[in-house]
Amino acid sequence: MQTANKQTQNRTERVLTQNGVTAYDGTAVLAYVNHGRWVADCACNGGELVAPNLQMVCGSCGARNTVTFPDERTMTEIVRVLDVRSPLNQNWHPDETVSELLAQNIENGLYPEDM
Ligand SMILES: [Zn+2]
Repeated sequence: MQTANKQTQNRTERVLTQNGVTAYDGTAVLAYVNHGRWVADCACNGGELVAPNLQMVCGSCGARNTVTFPDERTMTEIVRVLDVRSPLNQNWHPDETVSELLAQNIENGLYPEDM
């Protein structure tokens, strides 16, 4: 009779090392926008495309990180403001406000169509 139940294993306790860096499952990371893509960085410096409600699994070390996104309304505003830029300039960091992104657009003569 088989008694092992893999679902009872606590995967958040996994520890992974990659190039001398330790990454833990469940580590909180912040989503940001790079060249029009929502991405996040693992503790091992691996970067992954991310999306709300999808688990981020680092392709470099295998850690399962917990990604924090802005609220849905803010995400929509960020995308709308960045959308008028060329893809290489569609960048947002969590310490930037939507107003700051908009000011950058105006400084560069770019305006979202419906503002
Ligand atoms: Zn990693």
